[in-house]
Amino acid sequence: MNFIDVSDAVFKAINRDKIVKLTRDLIRAGPITGLEEEAANILADFFWDAGIDVWLDEALPGRPNVVARVSGVKEQGDSGAGARSFLFHTHIDVVPVENSEEWDFPPFEGVLKDGRIYGRGACDDLGTVAAAAVALKALSEVKEVLENCAVYFVGVVDEEKFNQGVRHLVKTPWFKYVESCVVSEPTGLKVVMAHKGNCWFRLQTKGKAAHASFPEKGINAILMMMKLLDRIKGLSFDYEPHQFLGPPTINIGTIRGGLKINVVPAFCNAEVDIRIPPSLTSENVIAKILENIEALKREDPSFKADFEPLSLNPPFEISEKEDLVQALIDASSFVLGKMPEVGGISFFTEAAIINNEAKVPCVVFGPTGEPHALNENVSVEELEKITKILALTAIKKISKRKEL
Ligand SMILES: [Zn+2]
Repeated sequence: MNFIDVSDAVFKAINRDKIVKLTRDLIRAGPITGLEEEAANILADFFWDAGIDVWLDEALPGRPNVVARVSGVKEQGDSGAGARSFLFHTHIDVVPVENSEEWDFPPFEGVLKDGRIYGRGACDDLGTVAAAAVALKALSEVKEVLENCAVYFVGVVDEEKFNQGVRHLVKTPWFKYVESCVVSEPTGLKVVMAHKGNCWFRLQTKGKAAHASFPEKGINAILMMMKLLDRIKGLSFDYEPHQFLGPPTINIGTIRGGLKINVVPAFCNAEVDIRIPPSLTSENVIAKILENIEALKREDPSFKADFEPLSLNPPFEISEKEDLVQALIDASSFVLGKMPEVGGISFFTEAAIINNEAKVPCVVFGPTGEPHALNENVSVEELEKITKILALTAIKKISKRKEL
């Protein structure tokens, strides 16, 4: 079988209606983070009906990651668990909906109109969950090219909050056989090789309460916080400019302080989100923040502030020379009929955790769309192309057959 024969067989096995039905069923399950179980069961049924090995792996109580595997391992009774493996990574949780009455269609009905599916999770990430699931099913029909290797599908929980699904995933025994991974997120069909990391932290200043008519008897924690945030908003970092990513960014996201208008505030809390390119680390950022707290303490001995890290996630970067990147570029060119765009994205993905912590090379790839937005939607035609691209990327990367 040459590449054209294999791609023909794969394309024949990809059924657009199945992608649409699965996407709509998943949207209707409403898998808001924490409530992923019904969507996990829908996927498990899909793989079960297709005769594909599937299991639910509880990352958190009642919150399973879905894992499915197709392998071409020949020995009888051997499941392919120890074979060199390729992974389609997706997440099955979605963010909640605010103001559902403002949507053109109910956000959890998965309405199909004019070639687009509407609903929460359509482009982030349920459409691609369906595409990757159907891609795995297509691979199950050309198993012979997966001789001595395996392809996994994973739909993790908790991606939109604390990434506990993927942290559980990278510790499962079979994960050590994974040698490359496509992380599916809405990239607009761009082959994404880099994104920033995030450094989220909370600051608390501590003052002394007093009656507002004698402010000199108290210490005002809000004024202290203003001084500290004034320094933080102007921080500059030493970093190397990146070919795809902009400079570090700083967002002061929340602030809360004081009890009453007529009381000198004894406390103030603020939360800050700093996004860092690959040449910076969370440690660099934290050191700068602590330096500034110490400087304020030297200026004013009554100044008191605590620093608490909330979420520290590294940036993600992979070289264009990696076989995986080339496999995705080749498969995309073949399916799209033109070279795909390559570059970076502005948001964080679990590629950083899989690439940096589990040391498995990743690329990020997925449909066009506005994640988390009002009237979130995805193109069915794009999902079908993504299904083909994912299947061919896995074959190009993992198959040992020279002709492929
Ligand atoms: Zn996502």
